[in-house]
Amino acid sequence: MKRLIVDLDDVMGDLLTPWLARYNWGWNDNLTINDITEWDIAKFVKPECGEKIFQFLEPTVTGYSLWNNMEPMEGAIEALGVLSEKMEIFVVSSVSGNYRICEYKDRWLRKHFPFLDPKKFYFVSDKSGVCGDFMVDDYHKNLIGFNGMKILFDHPHNANIKVKDGINLRVHNWDELFTMLLVKL
Ligand SMILES: [Mg+2]
Repeated sequence: MKRLIVDLDDVMGDLLTPWLARYNWGWNDNLTINDITEWDIAKFVKPECGEKIFQFLEPTVTGYSLWNNMEPMEGAIEALGVLSEKMEIFVVSSVSGNYRICEYKDRWLRKHFPFLDPKKFYFVSDKSGVCGDFMVDDYHKNLIGFNGMKILFDHPHNANIKVKDGINLRVHNWDELFTMLLVKL
């Protein structure tokens, strides 16, 4: 069986929407996903917020986290449902050293993707060690060094990344990704 390495945030689930909603509410702004044209979101928020935008990724003392009400990306459940019977699927998600987030991500994955094997949910701070046949991620730097096909999941924040930057392919949605993978299997 071929192996797919799939990213969680902004590939399987739409993290940016609840994240920006929380920021806009807290900082009285109206930033949209289309405004975020580079990976570093701190560049686009109000200067007085800056790096504090990352504090919203922390679960609160009352147990609220952005992953509590993150929606799956359109088509992700259907596509992975079919693909999981044809290939081995590992979810590899970065927690950037904040291992408190793992339980929230794990719970979200089990709720929305009950057909995936939870033993293959990997929460890491460095994806450079993963290997497989296909890897899909919305952050191009996570794809550098991967041994298989490097697939960038399109977002406004990575629109400036070119194939020459080390990726093999850009997909714009789960329909495109699904169709491409079926052909390659
Ligand atoms: Mg991601």
